[in-house]
Amino acid sequence: MSGAFPAFLDRGLETLDPDALRRHQWARVQTLARAAVPANPFVAAQWRRAGLTAPADLRSWEDFRRLPLTRKSELVEDQAARPPFGTNLSYPLDRYVRVHQTSGTTGAPLRWLDTQESWDWWARCWGFVLRGAGLGPGDRVFFPFSFGLFVGFWAGFEGTRAIGALAIPGGGQDSAQRLAAMETLGATAVCCTPSYALHLAETARGRGVALDRLGIRATVHAGEPGAGIPAVRARIEEAWGARAYDHAGMTEMGAYGFECAAQAGLHVNEAEFIAEVIDPATGGPADEGELVLTNLGRLGSPLLRYPTGDRVRIDRTRCACGRTFLRLEGGILGRVDDMLIVRGVNVFPSALEGIVRRFPDVDEFLIEVYRRGQLDEVRLLLEVNGHPKAVVAAVQEAIRVDLGIRVEAVPVPGQSLPRYELKARRLVRRAIE
Ligand SMILES: [Zn+2]
Repeated sequence: MSGAFPAFLDRGLETLDPDALRRHQWARVQTLARAAVPANPFVAAQWRRAGLTAPADLRSWEDFRRLPLTRKSELVEDQAARPPFGTNLSYPLDRYVRVHQTSGTTGAPLRWLDTQESWDWWARCWGFVLRGAGLGPGDRVFFPFSFGLFVGFWAGFEGTRAIGALAIPGGGQDSAQRLAAMETLGATAVCCTPSYALHLAETARGRGVALDRLGIRATVHAGEPGAGIPAVRARIEEAWGARAYDHAGMTEMGAYGFECAAQAGLHVNEAEFIAEVIDPATGGPADEGELVLTNLGRLGSPLLRYPTGDRVRIDRTRCACGRTFLRLEGGILGRVDDMLIVRGVNVFPSALEGIVRRFPDVDEFLIEVYRRGQLDEVRLLLEVNGHPKAVVAAVQEAIRVDLGIRVEAVPVPGQSLPRYELKARRLVRRAIE
């Protein structure tokens, strides 16, 4: 254990009863308010819109819920108006030691600064993720990933160090070299997107490498909802001979969700985040809807009441692992914006993926969406081994039975669809041909 992270193994936080957890969060909100409200122009403006001007004006959770939501578009506009970092800064610029940016999947990328304290906080949050996956001192965690401006795996790397495990960087290598490095260095865990775990499995198969003999016991996934989809998880676990754990995080928010040994939904780290769920139509509280988060340990560039764009269903029952943190049932169900309406049926792309991945002969797929009036039409492109016609027909039938919709599906040549190291983009919207 590094002496620099004394709070890391404070398991007490993960089993606090609900009242104690709320008191812990309230104390953290007050600390956040004292740091940010007097000094941070972006946060101060949000508070003024709720009629609050000083940290002490926040007296109750009702006051907290009166704070207007922070929209991503406001952050983008703020950075465009005051480039390059905007005004969500609680300290002078020379206090910040890290910069990262979002992938820009949904618009202009956001840049985000961290102080030394908030970078330690990131590592602490990743400690929850890695410990949730059963990792600790003695583990060797491989990051098959080119380290760039994307925050996720940098933070995972720091988190690995923070739990006392060995962190192995896998940048500047191709997939085959990464497999060899894992073997040579005795990696026991891998951190990557679900898509890349499957791609590595494909590479191993092509080279006759027995992936399940490498000694990897856990794979930890981020960047996409895939590991929470049962068929995707099963496929990764079978290929690697390891348990696959889902994790959720965002550059601008932090690493907020993780899975435990029970693999029964995604825990939200309520020691470091406040989670709310709102009905996207009314903005009122709901059990299923859009996840809204507040981070409690990033005082230099905090986000209060930020709609994540992720659709979730909340489960507050006690988990078998003993943690009291709430769970998101089935992980992230999909992006609020990505929901398709196919022949009157609401369908998330993750539901289609959950079916496609049950077929071991399908190596890769792409969902093409065509808009006709108010309706979405879906065409699935499938890279199939063996007998394409039969497999394609079986996939279509499974979609019809499970989702009640008929979709067009066509086989495409092997290796013709893109492979991804970072966020996979398997949904493409096209104009009608
Ligand atoms: Zn649990």
